[in-house]
Parts: sequence; structure tokens; C-alpha cells
Amino acid sequence: MNSDLLQQFRPSQVINWDDNTKRLILLGSLNDQCGILILQKKPFEKEVQQLAFDQAVQYFHNDIYTKYNCQMLSDIDCELICPANQVHIDKYSKSDSVIIEETYDMYKQSQIIQMPLDWVYNILEKKKEVENIVFENQTFLILKDYVFVNSQSLDDLHLLALPFQRDIKSLRDLNQDHVAMLEEMYTEGLKIISEKYQLESKFVKVFVHYLPSFYHFHVHFTHSSQMGQAFRDIPLLQVIQNIKLKSNYYQSQELIRPDLTYEFYKLNHNIQKIFILMQNKFVQKGISEIQKYAKALLGNKNYVQKKLAQDPDYFTKLAKGQNPKYLLIGCSDSRAPPNELTETDPGEIFIHRNIANVVNMTDLNLNCVIQYAVEHLKVHNIIIMGHTYCGGVKAAMQQDSVGGLLDLWLNNIKHVYEKNQHLVNQFENENDRVACLSSLNVREQVLNMWKNPIVQKSWEVGHPVMVHGWLFRVETGYIEELQLDENIPESLSDVFRLNFKSAQQTAQGQQSKQNDDQLALPSLNSQKFQQMQSKLVTEFRKYSNHSQDCNHQMVNQISGILQNDPHFKKENK
Ligand SMILES: [Zn+2]
Ligand SMILES: [Zn+2]
Repeated sequence: MNSDLLQQFRPSQVINWDDNTKRLILLGSLNDQCGILILQKKPFEKEVQQLAFDQAVQYFHNDIYTKYNCQMLSDIDCELICPANQVHIDKYSKSDSVIIEETYDMYKQSQIIQMPLDWVYNILEKKKEVENIVFENQTFLILKDYVFVNSQSLDDLHLLALPFQRDIKSLRDLNQDHVAMLEEMYTEGLKIISEKYQLESKFVKVFVHYLPSFYHFHVHFTHSSQMGQAFRDIPLLQVIQNIKLKSNYYQSQELIRPDLTYEFYKLNHNIQKIFILMQNKFVQKGISEIQKYAKALLGNKNYVQKKLAQDPDYFTKLAKGQNPKYLLIGCSDSRAPPNELTETDPGEIFIHRNIANVVNMTDLNLNCVIQYAVEHLKVHNIIIMGHTYCGGVKAAMQQDSVGGLLDLWLNNIKHVYEKNQHLVNQFENENDRVACLSSLNVREQVLNMWKNPIVQKSWEVGHPVMVHGWLFRVETGYIEELQLDENIPESLSDVFRLNFKSAQQTAQGQQSKQNDDQLALPSLNSQKFQQMQSKLVTEFRKYSNHSQDCNHQMVNQISGILQNDPHFKKENK
């Protein structure tokens, strides 16, 4: 075998050592990739040793006992893992063990059980280690473990039985449906060993590990002389018996085993310090919250399954590109997910979210989103969506600091509040005040959007963009279209209306080509500009009134107030 890879490995750090197993683990690099090299001294050949002792140095003598230091080359077993990720590094780094009582919930929430095991799948799909398979039927296969493959001795006997079914990750996933398979594994394994290696079943240990070293269920067959790990080895017959007694034996909440499970939980979180902290009761709740993180990844797996069940090509189609019709600026609030609220699919809405859906004129991030959506994705509609019970809006109304950066950001809304305090404070209930300011904030941000040069330019180049204001009512689920849109472009004072000389010239040059376009090229005549906008608004209303079934009470209330608002009247001139 060639050792090219091994020779390129550059060790940088010892991450683990064990004098009992004579093992040393090195962290290093290989062609700019992280690698782990596991060195282990091999056991002696079981034969009379022919050794040269001329270099031996005595270092101890007492009575009949004498010890020597012998410099001799011994065979070393090298295992290279490359590229290695943080999970591997944590797995092989030296660490202390603690005892944790694992509940079934903890097991289900752990991330490591969901990690794909390509090396196992390679075996199951006959891509690797085919020559080591000694038995196979419909439900499982039995193969020689690689340690046994490289050994001549029956003492090293080691076979593994692996089910083809991939969702049996460990003992924890077994129930009575698996009894037949387990019994068959037991009998077939022993039969193979007796036929192939002439070893009687009384010399064979058949067991599973919990915790296992990898999360694809497997049964070990080893020689009875091999040292086991008392706290991990569970005889297969005992497993079968337990499941027969109680089908959900291994899913039972009451199955709490003290175990040396440090590695297990460290692997789950990659956070070594947690386990020192675990002794501290105060962080217990936090840790259980951290463990819930894996739920999102599990949810994703369900999502993929559901989508594929409806349409096997769903994701390959998605990968071909997006053609969204809307750009939505929403609040980061977790209760206001735009796609879910509007029953739209991925690919339909281009989304930007920040705290309290602010259209900040100098926000580089937002402006890039607007430019990309308008000029490249060619969206015709921009929606600003605020929501009731908005924490950002609520905080902006108060004087207490919420932290330097947040205070700065909320200034955007504080200005809206300052300008409209007399309106907002007409409501007695705080939630109503927040809802009112949220509406006014949406209106302000719609106004800001109209001031945006990218949006204004869109009208100049014959690709008009409409800006809408929405209020999502968290308490009812309905979205209210705020009846403010048509007033806003008109209320823009001249200083915000930009002239695009070069764009105008370019557009006029292309006028003849655009005759087919439904929308005639708007002139810079502001009257025409407004006519087109109100036409679009009317069109939009027709559609939205038809499809909307929501409580307009608050909107009407605010609209009523606005009609009598001298400030608004002035702006509207
Ligand atoms: Zn195992
Ligand atoms: Zn919010």
C-alpha cells in the first residue's frame, strides 16, 4: 500500500495519549486540511521473540528483579483521519468522564445520532469492504471488523452485524418489530463462526454497546477471551429478552442508566465547558434549551421528506433559480415569518428582515437587497410589513436603554413616535399604542422607500415598482393592508423627487424597443407619474379587497385620525 498520504501529514499537537493501550493521537495538517493521526503500538506476535539486546540499558535492580530499557523498533499501527472536523477532534481529544443519566428525550434530541455515516453506507451499498462480508440476507449483513481482517488469530475474532435499515441508530430505537431480525442476527452470526472458524458458540460473545461508538445499530461477535468494557457491553440475548418483556423498553422514560457518557454529550455540543458547568444547577435549564437545538435539524429532515413525497423533483426545480414577485421588508420577530403567513412557497418572496422593519436610508445591507430585487429580479411590488406586539416598537416608545446599538437603531422609530405622539397616546391600552405606532412606523418606512433612489429610478426606466404597507396582527393571524399607500408618493416633497438625466436619456433611446411593454414609459411629468400610481393602487385594491377578510377597525381608526391630522394634511398638499 502506498504511504503518500501518511508522508504528507505534518503533526502539530498531541491531543491524546493512553499508556495502557499504548496509544498516541496527533493533530496536524495534510495539504491544508486538518487531520488526526492515531498511533498505536501493536501487540507482540504470539511466538518466541528473536531480539537483539546489545543496546539494552539496565535501570532497575532489586533481588531477583531487573528492568531494562530496550531501544527497539516495534510495529506501529497508524490510522489517519483526514479531513478531520471539530467533532472528530473532540472525539479523539483527551477528556475526563462524568456520569450522566440519559433519558430517552435527551437521546432523541442529540445531534450525533443524526450524523450521516458514509463509511457504514459504503459497506451497505457494497462500495467498500465487500470482500469482508461473510453473510447477507434481506435485512442485514455480517462482516469482519477491520481489526480481525488484519489478524491471523482467532483471539481477535470480531464480526459486526449491520441492518440495512438506516433509522435504527442504536439500542434506543429497538422495539418488538426488530425481535425477529435480532434473533436471526444471533443465530446466523454463531452459525457462520462455527462453520467458518470452527469456534463453538460458548466461546463467542454476542453483544451491543451502549453507548455505541457509532450510531448505526450494530451487533458485535467477539472471542470470549477478549476483554470487554463492562459498562458498555450488553448481551444481545438480554436485549431481545427486555424487548419481548416490554416493546418500548429502550424508549421508556424510566430507563435512566448512569453511564460514562461524557464523550457522547461532548460530541453533541462541541462545548467542553458545559460539562464543568453541568454541576451548577443554575445552568441546567440552559443546557436543556441547548439540546433542543437539534430539533430544528430534525424538523428539516421531516420538511424534506414531506416536500419530496408531494414532488420528487421539488428541490431540483428550486435549484434552477428564483423568480420572486415581491420584495418584503419585515420584522425579525419569530412570530412573523412572511412565507408562512402568506402561504407562499420558497422562491416567491424576496425577504429582508430587521428589528421593527425599518427602511434606513443608509443601510447598505437593505439597499443591496432593494437594488438586487428591483434591478435584477425585477419585482414590481415592495411590501413593508410591521406587526402588532412588536418588541422593537414597544421599546422605542420607552425611555429605558436597551443597549447602545439597539438604542441607536430604535432612534428610527423614536422619531416616528415623537412626530405622532398625540395620535399614539390616544389609546389607553399599551398594546393598542404599540399597534398604532407599528402602523405609523410602516407608513413612515413606506415613505422612506419611496424616497429611495433605486425605487424612484424604477419608474424612470419603465419598470414601475409599487410600495405597500402591511400590518400583521399577531393576535388574529390576519394581515391588514394599510390604506396609506396612494397618499405617500403625492406627499413626497419635491426635494426627494430625483431627476435621473442619464436614465431618462437611455430610456428614451430605447423607447421604440419597448412598445410591446404593457406599461408605457412614464414621462417625468409628475401628474402622469401620479396617475399611473393611483391606477396601480386601484388594481391592487381590487385584488386585495376581494381576497381579504380582516378586521379593519384599527386601520379605519387610524385613517380617521390621520384625515384630521394637520401635520399629515400639510404633507399631503
Ligand atoms: Zn459498538
Ligand atoms: Zn417586531
